[in-house]
Amino acid sequence: MRARGAELPLQGGGGQGTLTLRPLLCGEMSAPAGWFRRAKGPTATLKALGIGVPADQRIRVPIVAFLLEHPVAGLVLVDTGFHRSIAEGPARERARNLGPIGRVMSRDVRMRPEQTVVEQLRANGMDPAEVGLVVMTHLHFDHASALCDFPGARVLVSREEWSAATARGSVLRGYSRAQFDPRPGYMTVDFVSAGAAFGPFARAVDVFGDGSLMLVSTPGHSVGHLSLIVRLDGREALLTGDAAYTLDTLREGQRPWRSDDPQAFETSLAALRAWDLEHPDAVVVPGHDMAAWEQLQELYS
Ligand SMILES: [Zn+2]
Repeated sequence: MRARGAELPLQGGGGQGTLTLRPLLCGEMSAPAGWFRRAKGPTATLKALGIGVPADQRIRVPIVAFLLEHPVAGLVLVDTGFHRSIAEGPARERARNLGPIGRVMSRDVRMRPEQTVVEQLRANGMDPAEVGLVVMTHLHFDHASALCDFPGARVLVSREEWSAATARGSVLRGYSRAQFDPRPGYMTVDFVSAGAAFGPFARAVDVFGDGSLMLVSTPGHSVGHLSLIVRLDGREALLTGDAAYTLDTLREGQRPWRSDDPQAFETSLAALRAWDLEHPDAVVVPGHDMAAWEQLQELYS
């Protein structure tokens, strides 16, 4: 499958350049706590995989997406949540979407059909076809599952992430190639050639050229992971994606059981942490933190 290099900034910038942010809860998984917070000692791997872990020591993990609205460029989706088939599809369709690894890891998903992004948009009086742009933090199976619901959108993803996700054997690194619907227009961001320093981040791009939506390169969790900094009215929001599963990863030294590249993960996390400290009034949303999620508002403007 083809992707072309993104020509940034995209059209639509200008205006007053502030966005609204709507967090969307797309489902929940129950997972071993040790996957998200690495346990100490020689049993860390067993605990991460849930081996010998009683059901009451599993934690609730949100599967999330975000809707942004730019005054000129319109609706921008960040990640896609799970596809409807995960909630109610035939077993075959669900298995095809998630792939062999995702299927096993998503055994305990709890999701209602109305939690798909498209149903949540409709419930808010919006037409999913109005989503012109989808920005992917990364392409793991729990983020890219519903790409097929946005066939007319352009999808922005980092160049390294696209290469890793579409390579042979990518299933072993958490991707499901069946999710990469051929209809959307995939555009890759080359942070190395197009990125510039932005605050504590070594490489960032300005999507609309008006500073309202910055993508910052935060590799480590996956090879081409990116996080987003969104300019709201009067403050900013940081969507870390899986560069920090939890607020405790960002602020208390907690670490996930594994990362694609632990050294890159630490470098990215240090930049996120520095930004967080410099912006005490910002809305900070980690990738899979139910306690943090439950504190969020429905809409930020
Ligand atoms: Zn991930």
